[in-house]
Amino acid sequence: MKLFFLNSGQIEMKKKIFIPEIIDNEKFLLPVISTLIQYKNLNILFDTGCHPSVESNAEERWGGLSKIMKPKNMNGVNLISELYKKNIKPTDIDIVINSHLHPDHCGCNEFFTNAEFYCHKNELEAASSNHANKLGYIKKEWDLPMGLKKINKEFDFFNNSKLITIDLFGHTPGTIGLLVNMDKNQFLIASDAVSLLRNLEYEEVPKNAWNENELLKSYKKIKKLSQKKIKLICGHDYFQWKNSFKLGIEYN
Ligand SMILES: [Zn+2]
Repeated sequence: MKLFFLNSGQIEMKKKIFIPEIIDNEKFLLPVISTLIQYKNLNILFDTGCHPSVESNAEERWGGLSKIMKPKNMNGVNLISELYKKNIKPTDIDIVINSHLHPDHCGCNEFFTNAEFYCHKNELEAASSNHANKLGYIKKEWDLPMGLKKINKEFDFFNNSKLITIDLFGHTPGTIGLLVNMDKNQFLIASDAVSLLRNLEYEEVPKNAWNENELLKSYKKIKKLSQKKIKLICGHDYFQWKNSFKLGIEYN
């Protein structure tokens, strides 16, 4: 089993959404990451980042949401360009798992026309509901002819504990993480259940969370798992990529 973290976009947001003590309107850049896992001759993606077109015209695709999260300095880099660098065509992708259905996590879904797609059933319900727009969902990002298979409970993809989804609700009703057990490395890819590492450390609830109590419960679950030497990957933490992990390189 091999794993690569891939640069899948970059967005600018107000710091105060994530960090409670900030009161001014200062902004910061957030990395957008997808994970490629290669196992048993399958190419598996966890999240698909931002659609390439948002680099030039985010408003057209994201509407009002493009003012809250603004794609910035992507420099032509997105999940599709990063896969091509590894000689992987979009049609080579076999499985896509979406941590949740916000447009910075499922933006490239439409390119993977040969893939089977998975997300949690709560997430599909929320994204299909009448107030989906208010919750930050955009139908054309995820409602595609390939369909989405619903995960009802934590799902062990190969029945060998190598790849298991973990329910980490709170950011949205159906956010899931992915536990990857490889020979040398074990990762818990938490997506936006932990946007920044400091959110988990200080138990801060970002203002864009759907449910504070659910998120705090997920923090507890993540802290328990992290004690077992599992490396935690946050949804949007620049410092992790600067200091602890590297994009594009092989982990095994
Ligand atoms: Zn996100």
